[in-house]
Amino acid sequence: MMAAISASGEGKRVILLERNEKLGKKLFITGKGRCNITNACDAEEFLSHVATNSRFLYSSFSRFNNDDMIRLLNDAGLKTKVERGQRVFPQSDHSSDVIGTLKRICDRNGVQIHYHTKVEKILLHHDAGNAFFAGVQLSDGKTIKGDSLILAAGGCSYTSTGSDGDGYRLARSVGHSIKPPYPSLVPFIMKENWCRELMGLTLKNVSIRVKQQKKVIYEGFGEFLFTHFGVSGPLVLTASTCLGKYQKALEDGRLTLILDLKPSLTAEQLEKRYLREFDIYRNKNISNVIERMLPRKMVPVFLREAGVPEDKKVRDITKKERRRMIEIMKGLEMHIAGVRGFEEAIVTRGGVSVKEVSPTTMESKLVKNIFFAGEILDVDAVTGGFNLQIAWSTGYTAGFFA
Ligand SMILES: Cc1cc2nc3c(=O)[nH]c(=O)nc-3n(C[C@H](O)[C@H](O)[C@H](O)COP(=O)(O)OP(=O)(O)OC[C@H]3O[C@@H](n4cnc5c(N)ncnc54)[C@H](O)[C@@H]3O)c2cc1C
Repeated sequence: MMAAISASGEGKRVILLERNEKLGKKLFITGKGRCNITNACDAEEFLSHVATNSRFLYSSFSRFNNDDMIRLLNDAGLKTKVERGQRVFPQSDHSSDVIGTLKRICDRNGVQIHYHTKVEKILLHHDAGNAFFAGVQLSDGKTIKGDSLILAAGGCSYTSTGSDGDGYRLARSVGHSIKPPYPSLVPFIMKENWCRELMGLTLKNVSIRVKQQKKVIYEGFGEFLFTHFGVSGPLVLTASTCLGKYQKALEDGRLTLILDLKPSLTAEQLEKRYLREFDIYRNKNISNVIERMLPRKMVPVFLREAGVPEDKKVRDITKKERRRMIEIMKGLEMHIAGVRGFEEAIVTRGGVSVKEVSPTTMESKLVKNIFFAGEILDVDAVTGGFNLQIAWSTGYTAGFFA
């Protein structure tokens, strides 16, 4: 839609081909139905939130950045607001208003929209050893000729929205290399069965570290959630974007996750707290003391991991047991068995190799007049409106030059 808006804004005749019965099916479910349109941070910060190939975005982001996107929507009558973490949402809290606004601009600019129209094949012609875009063949066999093509078919997560990896097939068919797609912004499956016992428990203000042996791959602070298969929540989703280089270690089950349940206290401060509590509650069960420090649901799991019986009297706790409890509270170790699938991944890592695409124009370096935009490219970011801004910036640029 953004590519169509920018190309038509430049006076070009644009046909938008969408396989679904309507536009923006994925956009509709973004931001839990509220659509986190972009992030109001500055350029440097924006790029620091891009997990893969951030440098590729310099040029397109400076051509059309987050301010430009907000202005475009505001000028078209959509009011926006900025929330925690500089996340930008429509004031109405309805993603459908974002889709409606983009559609209205498309209509105003005379973009022809064809629904239920799946692109099956890209047609090329060759001249003096160069390949050029010629047209597309649709699933009903019809062909549409054109001067240029912008391929913005998305990644392969949440396939029911229409992006099922078909764009990769099309890109590959004209010679592009595809970096293997993996789920990203995705929950972790853990080896520890006790995660299931804690299903539904959210921990706020905790910190995690993801490690390959001693090497720390990710470190962060925030909200953490236990699920029936492992762990999720904003911290875990963000951590999942850092696994690109560690795919093999992930598959081999060599990554660990260390959960610090008391990040604001040092081990020494925590020890003082234990000693204080132990003094007051000498004759109580240890579980009563731990309950004062952790959510009740976590206590049995915590004590089991520490090897301390729940009904052991505080006065009988040995120094070794106390130390072990402190150690676990500061670093509960879990083992990552894998990540959940594309159906639960907010974005796809991988896609059309950016080495074969011009970062200035988004044009293919292999076939003249074919352009790429959005998640189909091997670019992805953390949550906060960054992935959509990638689509807006690259879409605008592709439309401008196509
Ligand atoms: C649950 C969820 C929540 C999200 N929330 C946010 C958020 O709040 N903020 C944010 O920044 N990002 C969010 N994202 C990520 C963001 O939605 C995507 O990165 C973004 O939509 C990518 O845009 P795109 O245009 O490249 O691809 P898509 O939005 O996937 O659009 C691709 C379109 O191409 C069509 N298509 C595919 N193949 C063909 C074909 N062969 N012929 C014709 N049409 C075809 C599809 O039907 C689809 O409509 C979220 C993602 C999910 C899954």
